[in-house]
Amino acid sequence: MTTPTAAESHAAGPTDTPLLDETIGGNFERTASTYPDAEALVDVSGDRRWTYAELNAEIDCVARALMASNIARGDRVGIWAPNCPEWTILQYATAKIGAILVAINPAYRTHELGYVLRQSGTRMLVSATSFKTSDYRSMIGEVRSEIPDVTDIVFLGTADWEQLRARSRRVSMAALRSRMGELQPGDPVNIQYTSGTTGSPKGATLSHRNILNNGFFVTELIKLGPGERLCIPVPFYHCFGMVMANLGCTTHGATMVIPAAGFDPAAALAAVEKERCTALYGVPTMFIAMLGHPDLGEHDLSSLRTGIMAGATCPMELMKRCVSELNMSELAIAYGMTETSPVSCQTLIDDDLDRRTATVGRAHPHVEIRIVDPETGRITKRGEPGEFCTRGYSVMLGYWDDDDRTREAVDSDGWMRTGDLAVMRDDGYCMIIGRIKDMVIRGGENVYPREVEEFLHTHPDIDDVQVIGVPDTKYGEEICAWIRMRAGCTPLDADGVRAFASGRLAHYKIPRYVHIVDEFPMTVTGKVRKVDMRTETVRLLGLET
Ligand code: AMP
Repeated sequence: MTTPTAAESHAAGPTDTPLLDETIGGNFERTASTYPDAEALVDVSGDRRWTYAELNAEIDCVARALMASNIARGDRVGIWAPNCPEWTILQYATAKIGAILVAINPAYRTHELGYVLRQSGTRMLVSATSFKTSDYRSMIGEVRSEIPDVTDIVFLGTADWEQLRARSRRVSMAALRSRMGELQPGDPVNIQYTSGTTGSPKGATLSHRNILNNGFFVTELIKLGPGERLCIPVPFYHCFGMVMANLGCTTHGATMVIPAAGFDPAAALAAVEKERCTALYGVPTMFIAMLGHPDLGEHDLSSLRTGIMAGATCPMELMKRCVSELNMSELAIAYGMTETSPVSCQTLIDDDLDRRTATVGRAHPHVEIRIVDPETGRITKRGEPGEFCTRGYSVMLGYWDDDDRTREAVDSDGWMRTGDLAVMRDDGYCMIIGRIKDMVIRGGENVYPREVEEFLHTHPDIDDVQVIGVPDTKYGEEICAWIRMRAGCTPLDADGVRAFASGRLAHYKIPRYVHIVDEFPMTVTGKVRKVDMRTETVRLLGLET
């Protein structure tokens, strides 16, 4: 390892606390034997709760049932559901038997669902039946013929789940122990699909070592101790939920509190009060929604101490309001991405207000970070912008079955290129100042314009389409499509585009704005000038403020 020089934008996180060198199942059992009677999991809306001993027994039951269903080490098991206790139970049960959990975004629709199930070679799918306007059962029915490898489908909330659990009788505890003994911390345990720059989602494949340690250090830094209670309104299908929250709690004997299946500001505030939560997580838009909720003043949030805001730019004013109005005096910011398990930088709870609100923190334990000039590859001087790169235990094993795209993202020395523009200050704290990658973050969900463009190209009347993000007060960014129609076709409007995409594309990827054009602004080299498109759209829609 090179020793970073102070003048360069290169830093390494502290290494005084060693990395955990165990599997997720082994670590969970250690916590369960240390704190058997501590509360592990609370489902507020379903009014169900488990101590660590009870949760461990339930996880063992499901783990044995999966073995009885012939799920081998390395087999993929998909989960397609909003937050619920069974999600967490399946997360740990698959980890105990060495299966790879494929976390599928509940907002996905048939186009994305079929793709990720095929690409990952998922064998068993555990799914919700429905949630709000999503009818998961019928969407699975629609793609059934395209996913021949999926031989077992288990619907949560139906007799299926009980029937699955009942299979556990066919496999002994000794067989489960023996399976657990075969596993290594470096084994893959999870595939998380992230929006792809080249059209289709990419399956970031993460190991026990990757996510167990990241979850552990995220909550080490906010000093989440045994008996503390974390309110989790962030989704489990993303690292924020399953790693930073779930693994963050179970590595420290803290309690996972699920306020509701999907994000609901009122439910999150009520859960904090009712369960006396000491910590709360959220993406910036969630904190905005909680702070703006009319019930805010009626809740006693005095139990709160800490939490994490992450996932998109965390505005300074918003941080300050959370500290003062939500009582989160030890609130931290984290920065990272799915491919790095996810966190690379985090502020410390005793950092001064400037560091805690103006930066995304400093290098995480056991992680190296550097800022590189994207043109020349040279490490920039402190204070000079460049691409944020990270290296260490946290970098993914690779994209599932996609060596080419893995090589584009991670260089031969192990540095992950994030596509984010950052500056490292003299004190080693970093600021994210923009993105090189052509990505939009709408309400914490990433959208790659290319994916939406390729989908809209399947519309018979669309000749060409370019997608951009435009500012939005509620979601941070909104999706806008500039469309050139085929000759003689009736121009589409936003409703027409929505009608075409809904049911097939996740709602957050469907353009809110549609602008019909004859041509796109181009550079002399024939590249579309998205910057000009954005400026023009902001002007046309009056989004300047
Ligand atoms: P994901 O893979 O879904 O976790 O998204 C990762 C991307 O979210 C990063 O590459 C950043 O562009 C963005 N991001 C995450 N955390 C932050 C943060 N604290 N500040 C600014 N952008 C962030």
